[in-house]
Amino acid sequence: MAVDKSLKAKEKSVQPNLKEALREYFGFDSFKGEQEEIIHNLLSGNDTFVIMPTGGGKSVCYQLPALIMPGTAIIISPLIALMKNQVDAIRSLSHESVAHFLNSSLNKGEITTVKKDINAGNTKMLYIAPETLKKDETIEFLKTIDISFVAVDEAHCISEWGHDFRPEYRRIKQMVKEIKDVPMIALTATATPKVQSDIIKNLQMNDAVVYKSSFNRSNLYYEVRSKGKKGEAIKEIVSYIKTKPNKTGIIYCLSRKRVDEIAGILQANGIKALPYHAGLDAKVRGDHQDKFLMEEADVIVATIAFGMGIDKPDVRFVIHYDIPKSIEGYYQETGRGGRDGLEGECLLFYNPADIEKLEKFLKDKPVAEREIGELLIFETEAFAESSACRRKFLLHYFGEEFDDKGCNKMCDNCRHPKEKIDGQAAAVTALKLIKEIKGKYNLKHCVDILIGNKTHEVTLSKHQDLALFGVGKDQEDNYWKSVIRQLLLRAMVTKNIENYGLLSINEEGEKFLKKPTKFEMSVDRKFEKFTDTDEDDGQVEMVYDEELFAILKDLCKKVAKAKNLPPYIVFQEPSLQEMAFKYPITMDELSKIVGVSSGKAIKFGKEFLDVIKKYVEENNIERTEDVTIKSVVNKSARKIAIITNIDKRVSLDDIARGQGIKRDELLQEIENIVNSGTKLNLSRYVSELTDEEILDEVMDFFRKTNDNVIESAMKEYGEEFSKDELHLMHIHFISEMAN
Ligand SMILES: [Zn+2]
Repeated sequence: MAVDKSLKAKEKSVQPNLKEALREYFGFDSFKGEQEEIIHNLLSGNDTFVIMPTGGGKSVCYQLPALIMPGTAIIISPLIALMKNQVDAIRSLSHESVAHFLNSSLNKGEITTVKKDINAGNTKMLYIAPETLKKDETIEFLKTIDISFVAVDEAHCISEWGHDFRPEYRRIKQMVKEIKDVPMIALTATATPKVQSDIIKNLQMNDAVVYKSSFNRSNLYYEVRSKGKKGEAIKEIVSYIKTKPNKTGIIYCLSRKRVDEIAGILQANGIKALPYHAGLDAKVRGDHQDKFLMEEADVIVATIAFGMGIDKPDVRFVIHYDIPKSIEGYYQETGRGGRDGLEGECLLFYNPADIEKLEKFLKDKPVAEREIGELLIFETEAFAESSACRRKFLLHYFGEEFDDKGCNKMCDNCRHPKEKIDGQAAAVTALKLIKEIKGKYNLKHCVDILIGNKTHEVTLSKHQDLALFGVGKDQEDNYWKSVIRQLLLRAMVTKNIENYGLLSINEEGEKFLKKPTKFEMSVDRKFEKFTDTDEDDGQVEMVYDEELFAILKDLCKKVAKAKNLPPYIVFQEPSLQEMAFKYPITMDELSKIVGVSSGKAIKFGKEFLDVIKKYVEENNIERTEDVTIKSVVNKSARKIAIITNIDKRVSLDDIARGQGIKRDELLQEIENIVNSGTKLNLSRYVSELTDEEILDEVMDFFRKTNDNVIESAMKEYGEEFSKDELHLMHIHFISEMAN
């Protein structure tokens, strides 16, 4: 696939003085890594593929040529927020019209300005989202202009084996071809060998020169700790941060709920921490991000949504409170630490039960996505449990050979090595088995055979009859898992990623079988499993169609205005996000969206369905039928008890007593029930508080108030009603209007 670099370099034509241009446009005196070669290659009209870890200076590789070459470069980028940051950064180096973006956030007037600037030859870079690129009007316009080249940023989005798969990315080549045949440069900061070949295949870049930088971040220290019982990891995190006063860090969690919880605990412990997740209002999110960049906050607690396009050089620690969903994601997130080349500590808290939680979340996904997801999770599990050098493991994952002597004790396993044992005989046994069953089985199956575990799969394939069945029963499954993981890491066994992770012996393995050499290894760490019964744990951050979400949000405001209601009464943000993820087009599908009852769907749904249907048609979106399952069907016993008691008109005090909770906690529970789309008849309770006329007045007040409703109501009616009473009236209002 790769063309010999030296050959290509010789072909290069007379080119402008790049160093001078770099100084002029960016103020740098010298290029980083292979930047200069990459730029030369692109300027020579060749396709180029750049794999460079975050912080390596990827963007200069296309920005500088864009500034030098005649015409406008088209830069395809997945996220609107990311685009805006990039465009702002370039404008600050040059002039306002040098870079523009084209996406759904622009109005007609703004689009006209963009086109005028391009036609006048003022614009060197046009950032564009794939969703916008595929529109006919965009393609027609781009056909009329002079394009220097096309850059595909975050190219791993092409592959479903990457950590950020975007189906629209797969159509880029097709659309570009329709416009003009120009050189292409694809860039990514994370790519396994499998993802790399997907990118090359999909973008039809077989002749591209590939530039791959090392993924080793030698200044980062990697450590995995046991998560312990609920609350223990948080305690550890608090004391860890206390030893690093005024230092900046990021804590990643998988659910919004956990983000809020941990940020709250850190704040209560005097740490300047702020939450960041997609459930927060965009303004709040932007504000928290700014505070982090401006060092008004030391720690950001975030879901995966945080960090794309953020370049803060002095992040000193990155903590994973939950196990990441893939090694690529983990590498990307830890990569935000120590960008300045100084200290950066990466701490992962691991609990084997988290793996099961992630798998459970995959259950609702289409089969193909589920299988890929499971394989990716098994890799993170192997990483967490590994007793080998973490750095070696990470680099091996990205197809890079690394001698662990080079780690310099910058990982927990190198710093505190586990006792080494002689694994030669075991390695031979495992290799013999893998050879015998001919690359048709995965790691778990092999371990089951070795320890003599008659699972359903083992009996189905009659593997209990193998001579090797049960030969390793003196050892635990963890021992054999470690042996096979070592064989993988030493590249004697190959895992077929495309094919369910099936193991097969390779040439190195055959060599070892013929003449076994020294095989020192240590057994992987066995982490204690802690299960907690947290009911909201299934809610993992979802990636949704931001363009559609913006459209639906606008529609929501419009509908609300016409009905003289605040927008959250029509649909709340989590519901809109899920719509922008599942694309419901029938009433039935709509009523399966979180927070939408069938009554609510009928009441407000029609216009939304029309818009989604049109959007799906216009953008050729392939809807997956089997994802339309309600993601959180979460009616705990308590919720059911509350609903029945309210139906029976039991007094609120009695319900609270019966559930053993305080009155305000009960109100919160009732509000959650109502917000999830269930209509409750609360008239009886509110009519006890006041007469109809005043109630109407309060209801009217709620109609006009969108933010901090209860606080505002307290200002207005605080003398007549208590906070709990106003809260109850507000819940009544939501239940009546929204459901
Ligand atoms: Zn190491």
